[in-house]
Amino acid sequence: MAATPAPAVVRGDTTTPLVTAAELPPLTHFIDGAFVESAAGASGAAGAATSTTTIVNPADGTTIAEVAEGETADVDSAVDASRRALPAWKSTTPKERADILLAIADRIEDNADLLIRLESLNTGKPRVVSEDDISMSADTFRFAAGAGRAFTEMGAGDYVEGHTSVILREPVGVVGVVVPWNYPLLMAAWKIGPILAAGNTLVLKPSEQTPLSTLKFAELVADLLPAGVLNIVTGLGPSVGARLSSHPDIDLVALTGSVGSGRAVATSAGESLKRVHLELGGKAPVIVFDDADLQAAAEGVRNAGYWNSGQECGAGTRVLVHSSVAEKFTELLAEQVGSYTVGDPRGGESVELGPMISEAHFERVTGFLDRAIADGAKPVVGGGALEGPGFFVASTVLAKIAPGSEASQEEIFGPVVTIETFETEDEALTRANEVPYGLAASVWTTDAARSLDAPRHLDFGTVWVNSHLVLAAEVPWGGFKGSGYGRDLSIYALNDFSRTKHVQINHSR
Ligand code: NAD
Repeated sequence: MAATPAPAVVRGDTTTPLVTAAELPPLTHFIDGAFVESAAGASGAAGAATSTTTIVNPADGTTIAEVAEGETADVDSAVDASRRALPAWKSTTPKERADILLAIADRIEDNADLLIRLESLNTGKPRVVSEDDISMSADTFRFAAGAGRAFTEMGAGDYVEGHTSVILREPVGVVGVVVPWNYPLLMAAWKIGPILAAGNTLVLKPSEQTPLSTLKFAELVADLLPAGVLNIVTGLGPSVGARLSSHPDIDLVALTGSVGSGRAVATSAGESLKRVHLELGGKAPVIVFDDADLQAAAEGVRNAGYWNSGQECGAGTRVLVHSSVAEKFTELLAEQVGSYTVGDPRGGESVELGPMISEAHFERVTGFLDRAIADGAKPVVGGGALEGPGFFVASTVLAKIAPGSEASQEEIFGPVVTIETFETEDEALTRANEVPYGLAASVWTTDAARSLDAPRHLDFGTVWVNSHLVLAAEVPWGGFKGSGYGRDLSIYALNDFSRTKHVQINHSR
């Protein structure tokens, strides 16, 4: 089967901006209830220069804005504000916090169109993906509001003669949060919702590449939250992110990002013995057995392997298919993936896939493709870059992937699905587990016993059967092994952002 020709990138009306200058948020930190410049500039000291990060539109490479690049002093002032706000915030009742979280969800929904356009501008996402991000962000706050009210520990009990034990659930304190660029507001919401519901205050650093929707969010909800409860410091990982991990007055640091950043955060947090919550990379296997509904599996991979242009930690990108059905499945998948429409978010409703987030990431993804093809992989669809401007990569299916090769093991984080074959169920399950990651996996089978048993042998935090990448606020999300530890979403997230206290009362007479 020859690779399909590379499609053109749909551009649309690129003369009309997705977001006007007046709609942009303040391009600086949000600390103690107000937008403030970086401490370096505010000091007025001779020679004090404020640094900024250039925010680029990945769909055409143009500059959108310059955003303040914070430093240690900005984190320190945000942590002070968070610490001051903590006693009052943690004393509010779950109902009071829920009322605020529900108002935040309403505010997101009332401003959904602007947030969707901002997210598409900053990330290049098609509108359909941004719509999903913003609607799930609102739902995350709604869930956290309800979960916070239903969040109880076990009741009191007597376990030692004359003593009653009461288990209390308390906030951890001040939480430092670092999030990535692939779902800017959604990843922030996954942290902010449960952290606030559990009674903590926080300082959050958005990705230096995609701070716009998070700053807009802060602007939109500023009047709903007491000053200092939510603080945003913009800037780079090795400075702002590193200070959040090392700061002695932060009780827990939560990072969603790459394995390298996770390692840096956990190492630095170890010095102050603060708690760590890590949502890291993934390399999700998709195991297609010989009894699977192959058409359903191909359609499932079309969505789960390429959603957000494959810049998705749970993306189903590594197909392991039984050799007896490999040819048929590859044909069906090629048909599915060959029909993708790639474009600028201004290209209209037909656009399903956008660009890579940056030139550096585009180089990284095309580098993976070049090396895999040089290594003998066969591009059945796509296989390389699409024409610029912007950082577009063709939706790609690579067959004939050697087990253990780079393309089979590493997180490519682009619109690339690889296909390997297997002979036995044991082999499939063993090889599926042979990646450093453990975030998500799927199994495709019509055998009822296999659908119950196979997931038990898979070392991944989420295992879907005959589905992939279906999420809900009620169910936990998080990984094993190199994908980190801790859970986002669900009551488990509130648990992770809480601490347990035992109070024992001696009532013997
Ligand atoms: P990244 O690790 O480069 O950056 C993530 C965040 O960490 C950014 O805000 C960055 O500034 C910060 N950072 C970088 N170095 C740091 C340091 N030394 N100390 C503290 N913070 C630091 O990741 P990315 O490229 O933005 O995002 C893609 C990665 O995120 C992928 O590996 C993806 O799988 C992962 N991810 C995981 C999940 C999940 O739920 N498990 C969700 C989304 C993304």
